[in-house]
Amino acid sequence: MAVSSLLFTFVLGSVMAKAKGARIIITLECTECRTNVNKRSPGVNRYTTTKNRRNTTARLELKKFCPHCNRHTIHKEIK
Ligand SMILES: [Zn+2]
Repeated sequence: MAVSSLLFTFVLGSVMAKAKGARIIITLECTECRTNVNKRSPGVNRYTTTKNRRNTTARLELKKFCPHCNRHTIHKEIK
């Protein structure tokens, strides 16, 4: 009985460790900041978020508000 509960704890621990490793911090950058000439302020807007590397293998693209462009633009994941 004690052995099986110990084994269960080990399996659960390794599953949780794997899940933790799949979640990574990514940076999203405004795709229009570099080409937009009518910006409100200089600079490139960036957001940081997290994603699951196993569920989302492709580069993430999200529509977010950019304070530099003063509107919603596509923010792409950068390395
Ligand atoms: Zn922008």
